[in-house]
Amino acid sequence: MHEFPITKSIIDIIKEKIAGKDIKKVLRINLLINPYGGIEPDSVKFYYKLLSKNEPALKNAILVFKKEKIKIQCINCGRCFEVFKLVSACSKCKSKNLSVSLPKDMVIKSIEI
Ligand SMILES: [Zn+2]
Repeated sequence: MHEFPITKSIIDIIKEKIAGKDIKKVLRINLLINPYGGIEPDSVKFYYKLLSKNEPALKNAILVFKKEKIKIQCINCGRCFEVFKLVSACSKCKSKNLSVSLPKDMVIKSIEI
């Protein structure tokens, strides 16, 4: 259910970005989501439709979702790697001593106008 506030903040950010500029239509919004953030693209689309219905520049934009990679660093050998699926051991030294940084649940990568 946390798609509602997150979708609202996405809309606010885009409104801010296009404010004062002569932009009549946002065609596409490219979003990056954390594969483990529990974000449901369909819910985001649903809330987007709801929240943008009174925003002529935004209301028909297409939302495109891409999964962001997870950054992992091995504490043991220092190897850094990026994956879509969490792993339990370093691919090089097999150590389980990993530092995992999950991306934000959802961020705007770019907008197309
Ligand atoms: Zn390692």
